[in-house]
Amino acid sequence: MRRTILAVSLCLLLLTPPAFAGPNGVTVTPEPKPAAQIPVVRPEPAAVKQELPLKQEITNIRWATHEDALTGQSKLRLVLDVSGPVRVEAETAAAPTPRLVVNIKGAVPGKVKDALSFGGKIADGAELVATGLDSSRLIVDVPLMLEDGDYRVFTLPSDPKFNRPFRVVVDVNKKVPPVTYKFRPGLKNKVIAIDPGHGGSDPGAIGLGKSQEKVITLAVAKQVQALLEKAGAKVIMTRQDDRDVFGPNATAVEELKARTSIANNRKADVFISIHINSFTNSAAGGTSTYYYQKTPYDMLLAQNLQSALLQAGGLYDRGANPANFYVIKRTVMPATLVELAFISNPEEEKLLNTPQFQQKMAQGIVQGLDRFFAQAAKLGGER
Ligand SMILES: [Zn+2]
Repeated sequence: MRRTILAVSLCLLLLTPPAFAGPNGVTVTPEPKPAAQIPVVRPEPAAVKQELPLKQEITNIRWATHEDALTGQSKLRLVLDVSGPVRVEAETAAAPTPRLVVNIKGAVPGKVKDALSFGGKIADGAELVATGLDSSRLIVDVPLMLEDGDYRVFTLPSDPKFNRPFRVVVDVNKKVPPVTYKFRPGLKNKVIAIDPGHGGSDPGAIGLGKSQEKVITLAVAKQVQALLEKAGAKVIMTRQDDRDVFGPNATAVEELKARTSIANNRKADVFISIHINSFTNSAAGGTSTYYYQKTPYDMLLAQNLQSALLQAGGLYDRGANPANFYVIKRTVMPATLVELAFISNPEEEKLLNTPQFQQKMAQGIVQGLDRFFAQAAKLGGER
């Protein structure tokens, strides 16, 4: 989540002491501070604030798309006319679907269209809802997760000379995925990058029984590799043994970048990072997967791996969740990071060390991949 305060309400500035406009528009100057002993009854500042005409109305919503003839870059611009100044904050969200959320403080929707459809070229649609007595929210549904440079939200003051009201402007640039993926069903000839988490100088999480995450992730990854190769896929391992991928004395980012670069440079179709979870409370357990929706397929990949891993391992379902992790964000292909179980949970630590459980989880990953390619192929066909 990112949150940016983009404009400050003029109304709030008007409330700043020493002088402010009273309910009748009369300028009120606070009296000098009375001596402590003499009680003086004065209205609470909040009560005064309520009577001020703070609540504005959104009176119109317009939108248009614009294509730059030179760069070919296209942009969607949404303009909300408001009866007076408001404050806006914008944030992006990955779940349940990628969206841009614009919170408007100080205005409620007037008689305007509350749902817009843009046909999905830049954004799919937008919805305007009241979120309180004096606040509204504009939700813009976008096909892919937006980054900082992909959108802009700002306000424009009213301009009586040209009969223009106060405006909230939302610009969304067209997001072009770096590579277009079209998948065929099946594992044969697929290029799959497998990243066994940690390694070398970095043991990862350590269990109460002293097992190291890096050892288990490598063991499971090697079994995934064997199963995938048997199914005709080409497997790229970020590491084959107990080592730092970047090399000794690397920063955390250098180490992670070394892993994503292997997958990016060798044009893997998908990237799977294998990890084991850990928590201070040893009762915590279960399986989870993470994705960053930078292509239309990341969430689908995570969901398929999550459900197949649950069937295979039978552990508690902690869900397929959006996350900002480096390796799933900086790989260009659909990627997921799986947390097979909790090394900090003694029962799960024991399981993680058995070849049977490792084999089951490896089969789960391969099964999930197979289902993913089948569904991704259908998704591609519909477009
Ligand atoms: Zn880890």
